[in-house]
Amino acid sequence: MDMKPLTPGAAARRATRQVNLRWGERVVRVGGDAPVMVQSMTNTDTADPIATAIQVKELALAGSEAVRITVNSPEAAREVPAIREQLDRMGIAVPLIGDFHYNGHKLLTQFPECAQALSKYRINPGNLGAGKRADDNFAQMIEVACRHNKPVRIGVNWGSLDQALMARMMDENNARPDPWTAQAVMREALVVSAITNAQRAESLGLPGDAIVLSCKVSHVQDLISVYRELSSRCDYPLHLGLTEAGMGSKGIVASTAALSVLLQQGIGDTIRISLTPEPGGARTREVIVGQEILQTMGLRAFTPMVIACPGCGRTSSTFFQELADSIQSYLREQMPVWSHRYPGVERMNVAVMGCVVNGPGESKHADIGISLPGTGELPTAPVFVDGQRTVTLKGERIAEEFLAIVENYVERRYGQAAAPSAT
Ligand code: SF4
Repeated sequence: MDMKPLTPGAAARRATRQVNLRWGERVVRVGGDAPVMVQSMTNTDTADPIATAIQVKELALAGSEAVRITVNSPEAAREVPAIREQLDRMGIAVPLIGDFHYNGHKLLTQFPECAQALSKYRINPGNLGAGKRADDNFAQMIEVACRHNKPVRIGVNWGSLDQALMARMMDENNARPDPWTAQAVMREALVVSAITNAQRAESLGLPGDAIVLSCKVSHVQDLISVYRELSSRCDYPLHLGLTEAGMGSKGIVASTAALSVLLQQGIGDTIRISLTPEPGGARTREVIVGQEILQTMGLRAFTPMVIACPGCGRTSSTFFQELADSIQSYLREQMPVWSHRYPGVERMNVAVMGCVVNGPGESKHADIGISLPGTGELPTAPVFVDGQRTVTLKGERIAEEFLAIVENYVERRYGQAAAPSAT
């Protein structure tokens, strides 16, 4: 039998134009040869500039590379420059994206400081009114984008799809000898709405490299189908996201299922995970999930990953779960500093394993790993560094001693990369 090496890896990214989100010196690229960008959205009242600036800062420090804020009222639009100033004072240069529905044409025109403080505008063509009024409102928003030299995302959503377009396409479908299903017409209407509005924006003077498209739906198969079609018909960068993904594991699984299929096919230039936070839960969860999707697929690296076994009847204590959790939290908390001080550390793998069955093997594959004792094993924990067994820990302070070994490893291995080279 002929044997061929397996060739894992995602398809090459689809070729797109590149859109730049700018604030001050900061430029965040979307599309082109830029890595897939992770963005997020606040859930504070934008009319409360302090609460909103604090949440934007939290999202940015968690790794969000752009943050969208709702701009839904004169009170909100009035506070956008204050939010921007507050962020600048805190040294947070993350680009802000304004999310507009219904009255965006008025707000962007009546509050030019708001239009200037934002780095991109999200326009939903289904929420601009009807008929000529919708066309005029759209044109007004594009005119503001041109005047302030800002890119836009034309963000179509199946919950607010242009009803006139949908009705026309349903009529055309009914005249077909072999009509499509209503669901197929809806998918086509999403794609047509996004592309025709992008073309219209270009005809109104907005450069083609200032347009990002999205067509959000809440079912996985619809999303995959719509984005495959959208990507085959245009070269605008695409914003991926499953809208209204839901809470907890359902939201995470549904988003991951949909986005990973598309990303594997090279489709998608920026992502947002629309998780419903659990009561009291952190908004930053959506950023972490987005990063973890990209990192576990091998598309980007953001923070060192902990490889941990699920545990089984061979380990009856929760010690290894607690150690894995505390190591993962510790590593993520260090990243705002480590990402500057230790370049490359984001690709480090740390194994925390529950017993001797797979513990030593998995730990050897990782950069650094520990194999904890399972039930009935000697209470010792061998540590592996770069595939070699180094020390064996025992006693009450295994967790602290392993953390110290990890810190020393990071300093030794990645601190070198940051040191100025001798000339
Ligand atoms: S490494 Fe050991 S404890 Fe962990 S899942 Fe495998 S057999 Fe169970």
